[in-house]
Amino acid sequence: MPHPNDPKLRSFIPVDPSSDFPIQNLPYGVFSARGRTPRVGVAIGDYVLDLCELEQDGRFAFAEIGVFSQASLNPFMALGPKMWSKTRARISELLRYDHPELRDDEGLRKLVLVPIGEVKLHMPFAVSGYTDFYSSKEHATNVGVMFRGKDNALQPNWLHMPIGYNGRASTVVVSGTRVKRPRGQLKPPSAEAPHFGPCKRLDFELEMGVVVGQASKMGEMLSEQQAEEMIFGFVILNDWSARDIQQWEYVPLGPFQAKAFATSISPWVVTREALEPFRLHGPAQQPEPLAYLRQAQPNNYAMELDVSLRASQMNAAQTICRTNFKYMYWSSVQQLVHHASSGCAMNVGDLLGSGTISGPEKHQRGSLLEISWNGSEPVTLDGGVTRTFLEDGDSLVMRGWCQGDGYRVGFGEVEGTIVKAE
Ligand code: MN
Repeated sequence: MPHPNDPKLRSFIPVDPSSDFPIQNLPYGVFSARGRTPRVGVAIGDYVLDLCELEQDGRFAFAEIGVFSQASLNPFMALGPKMWSKTRARISELLRYDHPELRDDEGLRKLVLVPIGEVKLHMPFAVSGYTDFYSSKEHATNVGVMFRGKDNALQPNWLHMPIGYNGRASTVVVSGTRVKRPRGQLKPPSAEAPHFGPCKRLDFELEMGVVVGQASKMGEMLSEQQAEEMIFGFVILNDWSARDIQQWEYVPLGPFQAKAFATSISPWVVTREALEPFRLHGPAQQPEPLAYLRQAQPNNYAMELDVSLRASQMNAAQTICRTNFKYMYWSSVQQLVHHASSGCAMNVGDLLGSGTISGPEKHQRGSLLEISWNGSEPVTLDGGVTRTFLEDGDSLVMRGWCQGDGYRVGFGEVEGTIVKAE
């Protein structure tokens, strides 16, 4: 049987080369449609393959536990990496142009293939814990230069470990969920005392989210290989940020309310296995990390990312950032190893934000804080619209994909529109 990542594979379902969802991808999500309860599906071209119906029809004989009738991927993820691979290979087989089982069964096809335009997509997994990192050297340097000057841009610990904080799982939402402008304590530098009110410096952060699919035990450290095998897949993540709330509250324990009001993720979880062909080594790490953080494998990914913004008075969204996940200094595997290194237990459904993904060039900045250089360089959009930070009615879309030869393994998008605080 050919490997599901084989670039030559084709499905009997026509898939445009520009589609995010060719047979080489097969991302998992949770959907409802046609009166069916939320269940697990896989995106293929312009369709969603209903795994719940296939499972009930006995097409996954190796896993008889009803994991696909659930409204979250957690029970499936808990089965572990061997079952993830086996399932993906079986789905690939069912969709292949040279495999008649589904291709030639019109009744089954009508039952299990739902046009993607007809489905409602839900949160793909139950978020157990949410941790956000700060692992782009370019982003950390830009922010450091803005707030501390060129000579002290990176804090002394930054090159020695992936810096992070524990965020809120309760307010992670799926693409399309409106985001209400947060309120909080604000104290502009010129004011003597803080006041409470709507955030005036609302920002996005372009990130990838790692979906942890296996647990680790409290008190145990992880090797590079163990950490990698725990990663089920990736989503695009928008870590909405209230810069003015953050600036006043963050001393000395780091972000709190400034990051806790909403975090948006894309609805399709692209598996680690599907991203395998796009692995590469990250930037050289100097000084060499401590032994527990050293990595032998290429743990970064060549993944194109872009962000576009549409103000309510604009006809179309306009791109404001184009960058690549490959620039990240600390890899997702290093983040996970570090996270567990104290003895912290990881759970099925944990979500790890990569940190804002900025690249070395100006057009590769992954937040408005950097794009507008803390509000001092407004960006001008179509129709003369200018922005330093996000305004009510603004819609923000992030996309990501890995480009193969004649196909792309994509994530779809994560969209969020800002509504006023009332
Ligand atoms: Mn962040």
